[in-house]
Amino acid sequence: TELEPVSVETVVSEALVIVGQKARKAGVAVETDIEPGLVVHSGRIRLSQVLVNLVGNAIDALCGDGPEAPAGSRVCIAAHHASGRVHIAVSDNGPGIDPALRENVFEPFFTTKPAGAGLGLGLSIVESIVRDLQGSVRLEDRDGEIGACFVIDLPATREEA
Ligand code: ADP
Ligand code: MG
Repeated sequence: TELEPVSVETVVSEALVIVGQKARKAGVAVETDIEPGLVVHSGRIRLSQVLVNLVGNAIDALCGDGPEAPAGSRVCIAAHHASGRVHIAVSDNGPGIDPALRENVFEPFFTTKPAGAGLGLGLSIVESIVRDLQGSVRLEDRDGEIGACFVIDLPATREEA
């Protein structure tokens, strides 16, 4: 199935409208670093769903058990072109993910959130959407670094010569 080509910049701003309220309530700054002109064949809804899930998880992690994140909490969405692929990274400066749980986070129904707070389906949905788009998603290994970083790799669409 041929999905519509979408501008990564446009989809990121649409996703930010959706998670913006959650971010403001939590006191989390969302920064973007998007290379201009990136286009992926993904359909805007699907890519936006992926981003909303990842940014939403980052905000949850930054808040921990409380309603608000500590001062200085931030999420960054970065997108760059790399040899025929588009890499989109969603990173945060929260508590990160225990290396022992690294393998589990993409499993359906895996959650560390209290009952009722999370179904544990977000990342498995992200993974299946991204796979459908001939891409991949991985949790970056960042030894000694703060926070979590998820990297999505998608085929780039040539938009112009
Ligand atoms: P849910 O959000 O319902 O818990 P997800 O599949 O979206 O389910 O995420 C699964 C688990 O992965 C979360 O419960 C959390 O433990 C972990 N996780 C996901 N993103 C982050 C993040 N940015 N920082 C820390 N932990 C995370
Ligand atoms: Mg989630």
